[in-house]
Amino acid sequence: TGSITVNDLADRMATPQTEIIKSLFFKGIATNVNQTLDLPTAKMVAEEFGIEVETTEEESEARKVTEMLDEADLENLHQRPPVVTIMGHVDHGKTSLLDYIRQAKVAQGEAGGITQHIGAYHVDLEQESGSRQIVFLDTPGHEAFTAMRARGARVTDIAILVVAADDGVRPQTIEAISHAKAAGVPIVVAINKIDKETAQPDRVKQELMEHNLVPEEWGGDTIMVPVSAITGESVDTLLEMLLLVSEVEDLHANPDRLARGTVIEAHLDKARGPVATLLVQNGTLNVGDAIVAGAVFGKVRAMIDDRGDRVESTLPSFAVEVLGLNDVPPAGEEFEVYADEKEARAAADARAVEQRQSRLQQAMASRRVTLNSLS
Ligand code: GDP
Ligand code: MG
Repeated sequence: TGSITVNDLADRMATPQTEIIKSLFFKGIATNVNQTLDLPTAKMVAEEFGIEVETTEEESEARKVTEMLDEADLENLHQRPPVVTIMGHVDHGKTSLLDYIRQAKVAQGEAGGITQHIGAYHVDLEQESGSRQIVFLDTPGHEAFTAMRARGARVTDIAILVVAADDGVRPQTIEAISHAKAAGVPIVVAINKIDKETAQPDRVKQELMEHNLVPEEWGGDTIMVPVSAITGESVDTLLEMLLLVSEVEDLHANPDRLARGTVIEAHLDKARGPVATLLVQNGTLNVGDAIVAGAVFGKVRAMIDDRGDRVESTLPSFAVEVLGLNDVPPAGEEFEVYADEKEARAAADARAVEQRQSRLQQAMASRRVTLNSLS
């Protein structure tokens, strides 16, 4: 089913639970025995203990549908836009590319033409088959991946790997590749800065081959598009490729149910109180919904989209700023809508108790680690 509890993993590996918790702890992932891990994380741990992992067909299929879908949703699936994250080495042009796409694609023909910085924005693309959308997360890709891996959630459908054509593959490029691969997220490579005289796109392709990313034109299956985030050259091609990959990935959700998804970012606003950007991953989020994100709960008082407009509802794959929570939830936390506020409050309270317990367990686990390392 795409995930496994620490407890079950320990059983299957015939390894003490504490060893697994310790291994995760050193990766910055805090867990307890009942917490579920996604398969890439479980695999990573097992391999560290020298255990080969085979995932069955069924499991990898289930992962494709994402953990946000229930059995019942399968009866009412609708296509949803891809959610895209940009990753890559520092200064290779991640921010420039996001900014270029935002300005070129969002400003066109829209009143105001300015996007709000809510941590995500969408673009509308006119295709022969009709209008299509792509949602970009503009939180740093590495952080988004780390947060989501720690919680076993998957917020990104496609990763754009930006590699500067005048600099090539660098440490954070390699890190980005392993993050995306571990999460099972397809990579589209943007070979950036091709406007520069010193650009060597073929050298970049060669270097990427050493990390098992083989360009399509050389017989592989990785799409690589040479672009310039400054002149905008071939950015349209890049966007089309994202739509292509998204079709292959077969992205679906059931809009006719209570929403669930992930907190992208959140902060305390002096005037408005806790403000959270939520990515809706299944169902439709409505004003007035009773919502729970970990130990935080509330009633959606208002929603503001990435164009700065107040909206009444938000569909799957879209991000929206939400007001009305009782506290600031951590980024990466999953949220869920409950039938009423009373239920929501009860769920959040139960979660708060759980969190206190697991913090206690962790404190004890880390003490044990310290003692072990002394002996
Ligand atoms: P980030 O650290 O990956 O977000 O990189 P930035 O977007 O901040 O870009 C780093 C530097 O590279 C800035 O000075 C950009 O103006 C420059 N830059 C980004 N993309 C391009 C490009 O396509 N061509 C050229 N010539 N410069 C670029
Ligand atoms: Mg940047």
